Amino acid sequence: MNILEERILRDGIVKSGNVLKVDSFLNHQVDINLLEEIAKEFKRRFSDKPVSKILTIEASGIGIAAFAAKEFGVPMVFAKKTKSINIDGEMFVAEVESFTHKNKNQVIVSKKFLHEGEHVLIIDDFLANGCALQGLISIVESSGAVVEGCGIVIEKGFQIGGRVIRNLGYQLESLAIVDALDAETGTITLRNQD
Ligand code: 5GP
Repeated sequence: MNILEERILRDGIVKSGNVLKVDSFLNHQVDINLLEEIAKEFKRRFSDKPVSKILTIEASGIGIAAFAAKEFGVPMVFAKKTKSINIDGEMFVAEVESFTHKNKNQVIVSKKFLHEGEHVLIIDDFLANGCALQGLISIVESSGAVVEGCGIVIEKGFQIGGRVIRNLGYQLESLAIVDALDAETGTITLRNQD
């Protein structure tokens, strides 16, 4: 997706620890026109799937998933992060290790909002080691709903998440794939996906 790739190369900032900051257009200030184009691209890539719900994880997935949900004409649900271990039986729960904060959170979705027979497209901003996606996948599967695929805005192709999710057999669509980040020079290398 060219406009996304151009924007990453122009405005992305490489931080130490293999972190790419995209705060000026995706994760803090948000370019709404870009989100609209991202949502259309997800719709195009999953056009053959009977998607009935979009699922993401707070916080930075929410804006992207909201635009995607509007494009698909379906509801959006976001998994909430919580430190509490005192979860009642009304929630689906998964444990997710945060790549950026290096801590573990339980992520929860109310059983009111995810049911057997639903067809779920999972959306997130980044894919690194795949913990967030695996947590969301396990929540969908424990509800009896079907994972129709995973849509990611930026996959870091040098980390294992993409391989793990594809090896599990899910359709994973990443709109931009970063092959290398050099914190010393600030260089971002994108994979040619044409
Ligand atoms: P994973 O669970 O795949 O290891 O990491 C994905 C999650 O960590 C995403 O939800 C995203 O919020 C965050 N993340 C991972 N890598 C990066 C990165 O390079 N930059 C930013 N801004 N977030 C990242």
